[in-house]
Amino acid sequence: MRLIIMGPPGAGKGTQAAGVADQYGIPAISTGDIFRANVSEGTALGVEAQRYMDAGEYVPDEITNAMVRDRLAAEDCKPGFLLDGYPRTLAQVEVLDGILADAGTPLDAVLVLTVDSEELVQRLLARAQVEGRADDTEEVIRRRQEVYSEQTAPLIAVYGERGVLVSVDGMGEVDEVSARISAALAGVTT
Ligand code: ADP
Repeated sequence: MRLIIMGPPGAGKGTQAAGVADQYGIPAISTGDIFRANVSEGTALGVEAQRYMDAGEYVPDEITNAMVRDRLAAEDCKPGFLLDGYPRTLAQVEVLDGILADAGTPLDAVLVLTVDSEELVQRLLARAQVEGRADDTEEVIRRRQEVYSEQTAPLIAVYGERGVLVSVDGMGEVDEVSARISAALAGVTT
């Protein structure tokens, strides 16, 4: 199963990605997590990525694309994968298309979580208190939402035209959303 999970910051992608990946026995690949791991290890990639992340901006495509290309080449991606936080720009969609075409492995579905915008800010502010992520301040959250609307929301129409979109209501309890996702993915044939 090859999947993408999309949605605005705070939609619950990371939380739901873990459950879906478990269910299908595939790795959940979060570009945000990979960047954060590099930041805490102080790698060259982390140093470069951090200035964009702290401002709520996207890390440049060249950096992100190279990182994902490497990750998808790993052995554990053979049975499939769930991408969380990638692609986020039209240029990233093109690169991913190329990677998948070269491997002869098409995408099965693009899962989109929908959540009200006020609920999103509340969730992110609550997460800031628990996890203390540097990019969870109100100002940076607003900027991440803008960047999402400008650069990432248009990808939904692109995948919609390809007929691979699976839209799921992301409001409510984590378990309720998980159940909706399972039901929606049960209809996807691989
Ligand atoms: P969010 O909760 O905002 O969806 P993530 O943990 O997925 O957060 O990502 C955090 C930050 O990492 C983003 O704001 C961005 O700076 C960087 N990032 C993650 N994925 C990408 C990507 N595909 N392209 C560019 N930057 C990315």
